[in-house]
Amino acid sequence: MAVHETDVCIIGGGITSAMLAQRLAELRPGLRIIVVEAGRSIFDVQNRGRYRERAMQYGEHPWPEDYIEDQQAKGIISMTMAVGGLALHWGGACNRFSEEDLRLKSMYGLAVDWPIEWAELERHYCDAERRLNVSGEPSPHPQDRRSEPYPQGPIPLSYNLQTLKRWAEQSGLKFSPLPMARNLTAFDGRGGCCVYDTCGEVCPSGARYSPDFTFRQLIAPKKIALHDRTLVRRLILDGTQTTVVAAQAVHQERPEQSIEYRAKTFVVASGYCWSSHLLLLSANTRFPNGLANSSGLVGRYMNGHRFMQATASIDDQTFPGQNMTHSLISREYFRCPADKPFVRHDTRVWESSAGRDPRLWNPDGRLLLGDELLADWRSRTRGSSVRLRAYVDVHPSADSRLTLDPSNKNRYGDPMPKIDHHFDAATLAREAATKTHVLGVFNQLAKASHGRIVSTSEGDYLDHPGGGCRMGTDPATSVCDNFGRTHDHRNLFVVGAPTTPTGGCTNGTLTFVALTLRSASAIAGDSR
Ligand SMILES: Cc1cc2nc3c(=O)[nH]c(=O)nc-3n(C[C@H](O)[C@H](O)[C@H](O)COP(=O)(O)OP(=O)(O)OC[C@H]3O[C@@H](n4cnc5c(N)ncnc54)[C@H](O)[C@@H]3O)c2cc1C
Ligand code: SF4
Repeated sequence: MAVHETDVCIIGGGITSAMLAQRLAELRPGLRIIVVEAGRSIFDVQNRGRYRERAMQYGEHPWPEDYIEDQQAKGIISMTMAVGGLALHWGGACNRFSEEDLRLKSMYGLAVDWPIEWAELERHYCDAERRLNVSGEPSPHPQDRRSEPYPQGPIPLSYNLQTLKRWAEQSGLKFSPLPMARNLTAFDGRGGCCVYDTCGEVCPSGARYSPDFTFRQLIAPKKIALHDRTLVRRLILDGTQTTVVAAQAVHQERPEQSIEYRAKTFVVASGYCWSSHLLLLSANTRFPNGLANSSGLVGRYMNGHRFMQATASIDDQTFPGQNMTHSLISREYFRCPADKPFVRHDTRVWESSAGRDPRLWNPDGRLLLGDELLADWRSRTRGSSVRLRAYVDVHPSADSRLTLDPSNKNRYGDPMPKIDHHFDAATLAREAATKTHVLGVFNQLAKASHGRIVSTSEGDYLDHPGGGCRMGTDPATSVCDNFGRTHDHRNLFVVGAPTTPTGGCTNGTLTFVALTLRSASAIAGDSR
């Protein structure tokens, strides 16, 4: 058996892990930190332009082997398991939640309050934004006031987005450029944005933040050790105490050899799915329901937000393809007056080419070539399509669960997770009214300038998922405290997405990172 001794063992190598490792190395220089990641390191930024080219030309997957064939779960949003985690592929949208997210119970009598004050979280948002070098424009709403400016000004709006901003604001809503973790100029070893416009898949310049850069910066001066391709299968408790003494793991290429990590502090930074999974898998005779699970809530209250989207057709002329991954956001409906029916959502606007791309066949199935094709295309490019979307605040019930699925096992015989999302009674009761409200906002936008909604749809999954190890002050109703320290095991922490009690109504990763940075001080203090 291979044994590794360290001060802090971080399980998982995604964005929360990268930010935690970086902060711990600052807080406690010399602290021994090992990051254990199940997937491989894809540290080849020099090849990313080529991957992107092949993806566009041949439809090839632009991230070779970024997943593990038999380590998959039902109900997840992405199969990626690699150093960098899901943030290898993220868009980089970096919105903050609002105070309402932390005060749902006291303001509206809904779900639960988070055990953190807004002013406290806001400080950590600033820290997260600095580290990710977020570019943004301050929100026009006074309630969104910031204690520090954005590290970078907003991404300049393309001609299209300038046109769409004018169009959208005729509705009375105010729109701002979306805050993004995207370098406007070279910063921190990453290039500046040259508007390749493929941020959703591959950013060849590294302008869009991804955690592999942070890991490489930490590995070179030996601030951390990264053990990739190593899956942690169980956490092992001390024979008599409730502290965790080891993490048992296996390397993908040496399955016959068991590996043990012994540490003063263990941090589960394995994302919304695999964190609860590992705690459940680590059940033993003293804790038959899994670790940190005396409340029975590990794997429960899985959250995220629903989304509704629409395509609008408007008269203003745009020229799709200028910067389609950038967008506008309105935070108008982040707030809901206490005396009005509860509905909260963000409102986003993108340029779109829907229904306006060139086509080879007309609707009757007749082949179009040459002048006919061009005439058809020209006739459909007058005016513009616009993509609209709202992330809607919905609240999980206790039955919104991650469970172990005995019918789906990995090569080691470990049952894989299965996630089924369910909403609480209040969310279900207001479902129809919420839909009416959001469609009303889309119509209000369209009508304000003689536009019309041509199609609408609803997402069939929850985006920016979290939950499963929710934080709270009462060990009977939560898994960990507001630093992510589990109530049951004083040297075991969970960080980021799994600790969130509710899922907000806008992109969640900045919040997961801010919470993790806040946890860092407690973790650093613990590992003395
Ligand atoms: C296509 C796409 C676009 C997105 N765009 C945005 C966006 O624009 N804005 C936004 O806010 N969010 C976005 N997201 C979501 C965002 O990427 C995630 O919220 C974020 O990356 C989660 O980070 P994490 O550290 O919590 O977890 P993860 O990224 O899931 O990292 C966890 C890591 O732990 C590893 N791991 C798990 N279990 C074990 C184990 N037992 N042993 C060892 N390692 C383990 C996994 O392999 C993984 O690498 C997007 C997601 C996708 C898929
Ligand atoms: S627009 Fe291009 S360079 Fe800029 S962040 Fe996106 S992919 Fe990277």
